[in-house]
Amino acid sequence: MKYKFSLKIKDIVEKYNDKCYGCNLCTNHCIFLKKYIKNPKIFFQNLSIENDIDIYLPYYCFSCNTCSKICPNNIDFGVLFTELKKEISKNKKSPHIKHSIIRNHQMLSNSKIFTTIKGNATIGFMPGCSLSSYSPTLVMKIYNLLKIKYNDINLILRCCGNPSYSIGEIKKFNEIYNSLYTSLNKKNINKIITACQTCYKTLKENSPNLDIVSLWEEINNFELPKLTLEDKFYIFDSCSADENIKKSIREITKKLNLKIENMETTVSKCCGLGGCVHIVNKELYNDNLNNIKSNINSKNVITYCAGCRDSLSNIKYSYHLLELIFLEGNLTPKGPNKTHRSWINRLKLKAL
Ligand code: SF4
Ligand code: SF4
Ligand code: SF4
Repeated sequence: MKYKFSLKIKDIVEKYNDKCYGCNLCTNHCIFLKKYIKNPKIFFQNLSIENDIDIYLPYYCFSCNTCSKICPNNIDFGVLFTELKKEISKNKKSPHIKHSIIRNHQMLSNSKIFTTIKGNATIGFMPGCSLSSYSPTLVMKIYNLLKIKYNDINLILRCCGNPSYSIGEIKKFNEIYNSLYTSLNKKNINKIITACQTCYKTLKENSPNLDIVSLWEEINNFELPKLTLEDKFYIFDSCSADENIKKSIREITKKLNLKIENMETTVSKCCGLGGCVHIVNKELYNDNLNNIKSNINSKNVITYCAGCRDSLSNIKYSYHLLELIFLEGNLTPKGPNKTHRSWINRLKLKAL
């Protein structure tokens, strides 16, 4: 089924059509572009003539925006496909039936059962849905450490609404984000430390009046244990992490005395959860993971997003950096988190 796009989208397409000279650097970087777009120059030319697009296609983009860093002309397919998703999903739902899974996730994530803001301080720690789903113990350990530094700090168990945004359902996203913002306001919270890079990006972009700090820049100032692990680790950078976060992560691994395969920072790739592509295109999700795997030598991977940890655990021994910081005994790899376990963990965390 084809979707006839607006003049606003046409402007983006024509701008990109003028700039693109078909070098294909982007298709070599991104598996989605390689499989579905194949030749960007011809793709833009066709779009600008036909003014329509396969209605399902924009939802296969991981929305990582990393193509813009690869392209010599900073062409950002993420912007184009995000705008298309917003337009297609405007005032209605996305055309993918399976996105009902995301809607249910968003409904539960923002229900009274799983949300709360504990404490009465003006600063808060927001672990995000994925870390809360993975390990309430790790959340409490890092929260207690932050408490020592800040004396009084809130625990914010709320979702930033990014899953709704990433499938273009802006009305829902605004509803979730406004509700989060109102709750923060009511509590007079003006500084938030986030463990999730997507929360960090979402909060920074939508609330420039708030002081948003990455947990990793905080931890980098802490005293950390010197580990004596023999194995080498590959750092899998979250696609939403900026250069400062990537640098902090490397400094933390140095302090932890870890052997690292890739100390230099490069342009990240999405783990496959971005844009919620894993829900609607399993084949592309798996191809992306296999592509990532082929570029990693070490059997162990360090991640600093619980979503990335989950995704990468399908192909490698994958650990969240907090698991290394709070390591007791041997390092034991865990597989992907089961859905029912995720919700139980979030309930547990709320009760702690
Ligand atoms: S990298 Fe940029 S210029 Fe090269 S093909 Fe891709 S979009 Fe076009
Ligand atoms: S998945 Fe990421 S790199 Fe690929 S087109 Fe979308 S935004 Fe660009
Ligand atoms: S970005 Fe992901 S983990 Fe963070 S709050 Fe939003 S949905 Fe949850």
